[in-house]
Amino acid sequence: MNKTIFEKIIDRELPSKIIFEDNKCIVIEDISPKAPIHLLIIPKKPIKMLSEANEEDESLLGHLMLIARKVSEDLNIQDAFNIVINNGEKAGQTVFHLHIHLLAGKNFSEFLPN
Ligand code: AMP
Repeated sequence: MNKTIFEKIIDRELPSKIIFEDNKCIVIEDISPKAPIHLLIIPKKPIKMLSEANEEDESLLGHLMLIARKVSEDLNIQDAFNIVINNGEKAGQTVFHLHIHLLAGKNFSEFLPN
């Protein structure tokens, strides 16, 4: 299987701006930011998309959310950020390695359910 862009970033075969890393995930700056702060929280396990995660990934998925919290605190944006997961090509997913978008500094309220 060919590596995805994110696997190549994790393996340091492609450059990226790394914000945080631990044994389970990496957090990088998005190369084409859609907000003043736009990070990607990427598990090292190459799950293709959220709909292909399963019960054994429960703690990993929780970990990614807590890393979102930690990074938001580190950047002092904990009071206002958005989390997005695009699942599937028709939903706009372009890299088929699960990732969480963490966006801040832009008001997306007109696009959001509320
Ligand atoms: P998605 O459309 O949800 O699959 O998101 C993929 C994201 O990866 C997009 O926001 C891209 O801008 C971003 N992206 C693609 N290539 C790179 C790269 N080499 N480094 C950082 N972000 C990237």
